[in-house]
Amino acid sequence: MRPLIIAIDGYSSCGKSTLARQLASALQYRYIDSGAMYRAITYELLRRKVDLHDRDAIQQVLNNIHLDFQYDPAKQRSVMLLNGEDVELAIRSWEVSEAVSQVAALPEVREFAVAQQRRMGEQRAIVMDGRDIGTVVFPDAEVKIFMTADPHIRAQRRWKELQATHPEISLAEVEKNLLERDRIDTQRTVSPLRKAADAFVIDNSHLTEAQQLQLALDYVRQIQHNQPIRKTTIS
Ligand code: C5P
Repeated sequence: MRPLIIAIDGYSSCGKSTLARQLASALQYRYIDSGAMYRAITYELLRRKVDLHDRDAIQQVLNNIHLDFQYDPAKQRSVMLLNGEDVELAIRSWEVSEAVSQVAALPEVREFAVAQQRRMGEQRAIVMDGRDIGTVVFPDAEVKIFMTADPHIRAQRRWKELQATHPEISLAEVEKNLLERDRIDTQRTVSPLRKAADAFVIDNSHLTEAQQLQLALDYVRQIQHNQPIRKTTIS
């Protein structure tokens, strides 16, 4: 059977990466977290104290960035390498989360990231999650999933995760950050977050991880076996 390209898009903190990672593992496909690439670029710009309005300076930084994913057997997952340095932890910081959507809206940043994402998909057998994967990066992907969930539920999940590293950040701040990222991501001019017309929608507000994985796997199997697909929103 021909290996597939699976595109998963959706709002911030919807559990896209959890589903994408589990789906990739079930299918023995490669998982690529495209958000990690935008986070790594943002981290490098912040670290170099680049003015985010200085487009020339941003381009200079992009010219000297090499991004890669490397499997870490100890963590049993792939980590983001920025010029060879493992930045997996650093790119999840609150500072990066606050600036990343502004950086990801810049056309030169998108051009840089999308070109690399397409190269990563050349071998197929890939699950990639992000905001524009099914609409811009791989518009011909065989499987497109669009994830959504109630913003309060998303904020609660994210806030619980953040307790380990940022206990000072309140639930209200987390909710504000994710709504602000959604606003910037959906309203930007270049590659705004949109549901692809042919995407299968999963609202996981009240689904367990196991249930959402099962739904996604059933959908992938339908596509693999060319059964007629009933496009619905499942929640
Ligand atoms: O997926 P994650 O929340 O880590 O992504 C961080 C940010 O990167 C998003 O809020 C969004 O602004 C940006 N992003 C994007 N396009 C993608 C993936 C992420 O604009 N394909």
